[in-house]
Amino acid sequence: MGSKDHVAVIGAGVFGAWCAHHLNSAGHKVTLVDAHGPAHARASSGGESRLTRAGYGKDAIYTRMAHDSLAQWKALSAVSGLPIFHPHGVVFFGATEEDYFRDAVRVHAELGLPIERLDGRQLARKFPMIDFTGVAVGLYEPGFGALMARRSVQTLVDRFVRAGGSYVHGAARTPEPANGRLDHITLASGEKIAADRFVFALGPWLPKLFPALLGKRIVATRQEVFFFAPPAGDPRFLPAAMPGWADFNQGDIYYGFPDLESRGVKFAHDAHGAVVDPDTQDRRPSKEALADVIAFRDRRFPLLRGAPLTEARVCQYENSSNGDFLIDFHPEMSNALLVGGGSGHGFKHGPEVGRHAAGRLLGTLPAEPRFSLATKSETHNREVH
Ligand SMILES: Cc1cc2nc3c(=O)[nH]c(=O)nc-3n(C[C@H](O)[C@H](O)[C@H](O)COP(=O)(O)OP(=O)(O)OC[C@H]3O[C@@H](n4cnc5c(N)ncnc54)[C@H](O)[C@@H]3O)c2cc1C
Repeated sequence: MGSKDHVAVIGAGVFGAWCAHHLNSAGHKVTLVDAHGPAHARASSGGESRLTRAGYGKDAIYTRMAHDSLAQWKALSAVSGLPIFHPHGVVFFGATEEDYFRDAVRVHAELGLPIERLDGRQLARKFPMIDFTGVAVGLYEPGFGALMARRSVQTLVDRFVRAGGSYVHGAARTPEPANGRLDHITLASGEKIAADRFVFALGPWLPKLFPALLGKRIVATRQEVFFFAPPAGDPRFLPAAMPGWADFNQGDIYYGFPDLESRGVKFAHDAHGAVVDPDTQDRRPSKEALADVIAFRDRRFPLLRGAPLTEARVCQYENSSNGDFLIDFHPEMSNALLVGGGSGHGFKHGPEVGRHAAGRLLGTLPAEPRFSLATKSETHNREVH
């Protein structure tokens, strides 16, 4: 592939934006296309904050990717006007010493990465804003924290354009290959964009553009997040004192963030909600989800009992069958790469997903079996946490 070749990247969420950035940085002509704008309100990348951590149980592949991505996030944060990365640390905890915790410690040791194993007493001393009743073990990663999701993608796309990349606001129609290849996409406006290679990084819309291939392999589920105002003047919920956290809660995970940029202390239930269409799902928060999160909050964060709701958002995970990403060529278009399946944990990996996707497209990186289309089943059983 010569430097004058043209790549069209469709989808300016975190995966498409990083892929476009890497291709542009490698000297290729890149057109990035999005139907609604980078990290828009309904995109999976359009939220306020996303956790980044390298603890992934036995899944060393994601530990390595999170670590390598963090360096790229930090570089972007360093040139962004407002911070993109808040290094407040992340703690995962549970009632029992599950294999997940033992495996994460082993993987970190093998890769030479820091991680602290804390027992219930140590956790309570270090993080007094959390009630650790019933918790036996936690893993603390001091070097990780929160990424400002929408800001980071919009900053990256802005830098991509300043560096010579093109951004087009338009909705791609389902592409029509000829002779096993694609030579252009057509937008809803009728405009055609010709290119040598294509990347479709459409997040929860991927199955909508390719329903026969991906309709059952990638499934969007409703996810709700809530923010609460901490007590006035109380420093215990600020990022200087409080980490990002996830309570394994016997397999029914809740997670949250400190009061980042005065938005409120964030809580979410990680369980998959109802299957939804990202275009039509009702974005009003539900009473049931709010009550569920408040019940959890009042138990684990008793200092926040009665804290008023400051904001709520309804988003979606785009789940692959087991939580592994999809980075593979379309079986009927040898020059079109499909990228997605973020599965509720993809954001932190954006830089490395983009690098891997660019490498696959250019033929400079080998295929990773876990990201193949062949491993994406139509029967869903989440395995990556
Ligand atoms: C509530 C919630 C919490 C999460 N928490 C975390 C977390 O703590 N840590 C973490 O690492 N990850 C987290 N994730 C997951 C992460 O946010 C996603 O995996 C990631 O943002 C997916 O990015 P994407 O680029 O694949 O999709 P998107 O951001 O949805 O981008 C896809 C883009 O494609 C565009 N598009 C679609 N169809 C077309 C078309 N036909 N033509 C042109 N453009 C089109 C869309 O407009 C959109 O902008 C969370 C997700 C949610 C919803």
